[in-house]
Amino acid sequence: EAHKESHGFQTEAKQLLHLMIHSLYSNKEIFLRELVSNASDAADKLRFEALSKPELLEEDPDLRIRIEFDKDEGSISITDNGIGMSRDEVIENLGTIARSGTANFMQNLTGDQKKDAHLIGQFGVGFYSAFIVADRVEVFTRRAGADADQGVHWECSGEAEYTIENVEWPQRGTRVVLHLKDDAKEFADGWRLRSIIKKYSDHIALPVEMLKEEAPAAEGEEKEDKAPEFEAVNAAQALWTRSRSDIKSEEYKEFYKHISHDFDDPLTWSHNRVEGKLDYTSLLYIPGRAPFDLYQRDAARGLKLYVQRTFIMDDAEQFLPLYLRFVKGVLDSNDLPLNVSREILQKDRNTDAIKSALTKRVLDMLGKLAGKDADQYQKFWDLFGNVMKEGPAEDFANKEKIAKLLRFSSTHTDEPKQDQSLEDYVGRMQEGQKYIYYVCADNFATAKSSPYLEVFRKKGIEVLLLTDQIDEWFVGHMHEFDGKPFQDVAKGALDLGEAESEEDKAEREKVEEQAGALVERVKEVLQNRVEDVRATTRLVDSPACLVVSEQDMGPQMRRILEQAGQ
Ligand code: ADP
Ligand code: MG
Repeated sequence: EAHKESHGFQTEAKQLLHLMIHSLYSNKEIFLRELVSNASDAADKLRFEALSKPELLEEDPDLRIRIEFDKDEGSISITDNGIGMSRDEVIENLGTIARSGTANFMQNLTGDQKKDAHLIGQFGVGFYSAFIVADRVEVFTRRAGADADQGVHWECSGEAEYTIENVEWPQRGTRVVLHLKDDAKEFADGWRLRSIIKKYSDHIALPVEMLKEEAPAAEGEEKEDKAPEFEAVNAAQALWTRSRSDIKSEEYKEFYKHISHDFDDPLTWSHNRVEGKLDYTSLLYIPGRAPFDLYQRDAARGLKLYVQRTFIMDDAEQFLPLYLRFVKGVLDSNDLPLNVSREILQKDRNTDAIKSALTKRVLDMLGKLAGKDADQYQKFWDLFGNVMKEGPAEDFANKEKIAKLLRFSSTHTDEPKQDQSLEDYVGRMQEGQKYIYYVCADNFATAKSSPYLEVFRKKGIEVLLLTDQIDEWFVGHMHEFDGKPFQDVAKGALDLGEAESEEDKAEREKVEEQAGALVERVKEVLQNRVEDVRATTRLVDSPACLVVSEQDMGPQMRRILEQAGQ
């Protein structure tokens, strides 16, 4: 029984679809990249399932993607013999967006096409990109292992709903048929399709095939009636298995988009083959923008894991610490067993060894970027600096390495831009200065005009201006850099160390003596409301300020705990 039904899209899916149809993408051709990328994922998933169920592959073991077109009809089809989908999977995968936080994200859409197109790129375009070029899309699919009568036909030609019905479908896998819009008919063309495949999908590990272009029959020659022959259009070799020197940066960038579902170029990457005690290849990328769910606990993170070139899982989060969760990439291991699962990964000794090697690799890659391209590094810091500050607490072993990568705003520039390193700071420390001074505040204006800074400004001692929520917590774990402890200028008795000259000391003592009587009176008036009252030379223009004692929580920390309901 065909059992044809109409279904509405989930609200978020509908919004995404609407944008696809109405956003004026400047490069429409990316639809092919997305659909080929999905077909390739489907092949990966089938290979993985076939590890334990080899019969799934039996009658059709050579995985491939085929692209066909019909110029007269104005249609294109993308066919794979990968994992395919059951009826339920079609409804789930093509009718909803499962990524959590999507609804919130969609609320940020403005209705301004240009801005929204940019936002959507950040989200990742995926299957719905078919609607950039097609006004009607059909999907024929059959799950690997299911019977021929378990085929599914999905069709959508509007934004509101789609139909779904069961059909006979002789082969395993998925065929997506695009009925092109009038202004996209140009894509139903062999030369055009070949060049798009070369451009975006050359790195796809399995063959992307098209029909051989037939040479016109020579004069007097009988044209034979041969079965149509397909040929691979792409290189069909997994990118990370190739040698670095043979890979162009364009190829690295396209590969990044395939694995990350990102729309934009990465900032930088590092591709390494490791042999010896451990044997693996890694290709790690730093994205050029932050995902909307960077701070969402349940957001997907981690690497795409392969074992001996066989895809095992997405989002293998065991190989990088949480503070490097923005890193995307591939790990292909020759040490892990093919039947590895998340549970086994957690226990495998190799996991920790690889994790610590990859962590160093990422930190080195960032150090290198900072050294060779300050602008790109600044871009990185602006995107992910706040996450990096989680590093010292999580990864004690690499504290020094992480510390060198940190950037701060300070009184040296008096600008909100966080672009001063701790090494810069230490290099500018005054003779005899023992501490790295900082002030915490809610925002830059408050930090910059803090009365605590007066004496430091007078003496020309640099103070870090910390204005991110995480800062106080972060400093608490950082403790020191290069043997110099961090010191909150708003806390406790101010010890300028040897930076206090004999002259200063004399003045401080004089002030303390002169103010003795006043201090006593203020103490009386404020009684239980303060712990202590002291005369100070730390103020230049302001008459008085509140100081938190050394052991107390700072105001930022107090607010974080309040927010957490404590
Ligand atoms: P993503 O690839 O980021 O998961 P897409 O929008 O591209 O998102 O695809 C949505 C989902 O639809 C995929 O995750 C997959 O489960 C399913 N899908 C899409 N194309 C295919 C295909 N050719 N074969 C099997 N499943 C597919
Ligand atoms: Mg996809």
